[in-house]
Amino acid sequence: MQNKPVVNLISKPQNMLKTVYTACRTCYSADYPINIYNSTDDEEKMLKLIERVISSGHYSTIEHIQVSFAISNVSRACTHQLVRHRHMSFSQKSQRYVKEKGQFDYIIPPTIEKNAELKKKFEDFMAQISECYQEFVDVGIPAEDARFVLPNAAASSLVVSMNLRELIHVANLRLCTRAQYEIRTLVKMMCDELIKEEPWLKPYLVPKCERLGFCDEDKSCGRKNPFPKG
Ligand SMILES: Cc1cc2nc3c(=O)[nH]c(=O)nc-3n(C[C@H](O)[C@H](O)[C@H](O)COP(=O)(O)OP(=O)(O)OC[C@H]3O[C@@H](n4cnc5c(N)ncnc54)[C@H](O)[C@@H]3O)c2cc1C
Repeated sequence: MQNKPVVNLISKPQNMLKTVYTACRTCYSADYPINIYNSTDDEEKMLKLIERVISSGHYSTIEHIQVSFAISNVSRACTHQLVRHRHMSFSQKSQRYVKEKGQFDYIIPPTIEKNAELKKKFEDFMAQISECYQEFVDVGIPAEDARFVLPNAAASSLVVSMNLRELIHVANLRLCTRAQYEIRTLVKMMCDELIKEEPWLKPYLVPKCERLGFCDEDKSCGRKNPFPKG
């Protein structure tokens, strides 16, 4: 099993840019939104207005866009962090309804994987947990109880949906080098999937310091200067 998230963009609206532009322009125009939508094709003009509107914090304009991702091969440690985001919708593989058969899939953090001795220890321990889980299931313990022995490393799958405002917010937080490596990798892959189809989003799907122009973390990675305190 590969030790990296599998991420696919499975749903996004057509004409994303035009939809956001129409939402922005409608706020400042006497024209019908449908006329704005039908008469606009100048990408540069659209991007200029969108940047102005987003930079001023007028975020309802980017809430009209909904995207969905199919995600696999991520640890429960990672999904536990992702589900903290309250404006996302989740449907995750259940450890109650899906019984593990044989060795369960798990994620090995790179810091452990690169050390042969520690990796072996890790794998042996996963095998031990698996044995214990199977033993419980075999004597009739329901999966919902047997799963109590499964580790944070256990792999999971989920479908995640969110609007563009939330995705930008999550990118700003989770692409920061202070975020944990796996969720950073996952969110980067989600952003890259969307940017492949909607390249105009690249300047928004960045760590927060890129938008702020400074770092507001207590411990900065040094990529941007800290915000002067005092
Ligand atoms: C580097 C890092 C380290 C972290 N470490 C820890 C940790 O040690 N322990 C821990 O428990 N968590 C930790 N977290 C999780 C963090 O506290 C947040 O729960 C998580 O990042 C979700 O962020 P959010 O609330 O901004 O986003 P979302 O839930 O995605 O919400 C988006 C925005 O909506 C608004 N919003 C949502 N719900 C409310 C509400 N109820 N009231 C008011 N406004 C709301 C806020 O403006 C919020 O920023 C960490 C997160 C990061 C990025």
